[in-house]
Amino acid sequence: MDMPFIDLAAQQSRIYDRIEENIKKVLSHGQYIMGPEVGELEERLAGFVDVKFAIGCSSGTDALLMALMAHDVGPGDAVFTTPFTFVATAETISLTGATPVFVDIEPDTFNIDPGLLAQAFDALEKMDPDIYPLPAGFEGLKPRGIVAVDLFGQCADYDRIISFARDRGLFVIEDAAQSLGAEYHGRKAGSLADCAATSFFPAKPLGAYGDGGMVFTADAYLAEKLYSIRVHGKGSHKYENLRLGLNGRLDTIQAAILIAKFEIFPEEIELRQEVAARYTELLGQSGVVSCPKVKPGLKSAWAQYSLVSEHRDTILGKLKASGIPTAIYYPIPLHFQGAYRHLGYKKGDFPMAEKISRTIFSIPMHPYMKPEDQRLIAEIILDSV
Ligand SMILES: *Cc1c(COP(=O)(O)O)cnc(C)c1O
Repeated sequence: MDMPFIDLAAQQSRIYDRIEENIKKVLSHGQYIMGPEVGELEERLAGFVDVKFAIGCSSGTDALLMALMAHDVGPGDAVFTTPFTFVATAETISLTGATPVFVDIEPDTFNIDPGLLAQAFDALEKMDPDIYPLPAGFEGLKPRGIVAVDLFGQCADYDRIISFARDRGLFVIEDAAQSLGAEYHGRKAGSLADCAATSFFPAKPLGAYGDGGMVFTADAYLAEKLYSIRVHGKGSHKYENLRLGLNGRLDTIQAAILIAKFEIFPEEIELRQEVAARYTELLGQSGVVSCPKVKPGLKSAWAQYSLVSEHRDTILGKLKASGIPTAIYYPIPLHFQGAYRHLGYKKGDFPMAEKISRTIFSIPMHPYMKPEDQRLIAEIILDSV
């Protein structure tokens, strides 16, 4: 059997002509850098997410970095985030010179736990790691902000996160790399914090045919800085440099491809709801695995459909033997990574992230899943223990 984990070919076959036409337009106008398609995509996505400003950029990682730079994050700053995410979330904090302060996750959504966020903040303010685990060098850190992640496509608890942050003068950045198309009490992912960063990596809900990303904000002051940071901190022209920045632009060809893909994106988000609901129907009552839980009032973008089971290795073995692709997001929480050894965190510091990393796995998820393939996957899972 040859079942894809994410079926990009099925999507391409629907819109091949439109993609080709859009690429050809770029080849004929020749504006490969910051061509008109970049602005057009920015305008469409700003409208979709419902924020004033959308700044296309070279990747989700650069989108996060630009958002942090726009907040002038640097050495001595503490930025609270989750240890259960793709490394880029914390890596970009570290690249600014700031220090990530990890906060454990909720057991049901795997997103940062606002109650524990309060504990971590308190621990840092009182310089007391007995209140909550803190990174090495915490004595010199000033709390500046929070990077919350919308893991697997479900938005974090922004009502609590934002109100906590407002009371304490912290900024909030939404890592929406996995959640474009998701909703939070009627608002769209990407509009829920001071800035949001999304990714157009091919496997994300809205994927390009290469790297790309976008920063969203409603704040004109931040937007102005983001446009500048995207192009080496430019001022009124390219050779006036007001601040340090990046070569962080989105390629015109990727924007042209994304414009074609965006036409069917809202429909694909709806198809993902159906696929997810079918999995939950097939697997939800089994007791063998626990299915993802979406909180009331929220709609996930279903970047991944992730199950939790104590029998993970057995189940993965059975799926593999039947040719079903699977993935583990994420097998190693960030505080156990070599890159973060210097923070001095210990085993047991973030017990939920540690437990979930041992028991979670993801099964094929995309808008074009065939119901019979989903039934087959469910059967294999239910028969494996
Ligand atoms: C994919 C991802 C990123 C990084 O996006 P790239 O476009 O690959 O740089 C950041 N955060 C999360 C949560 C992601 O899933």
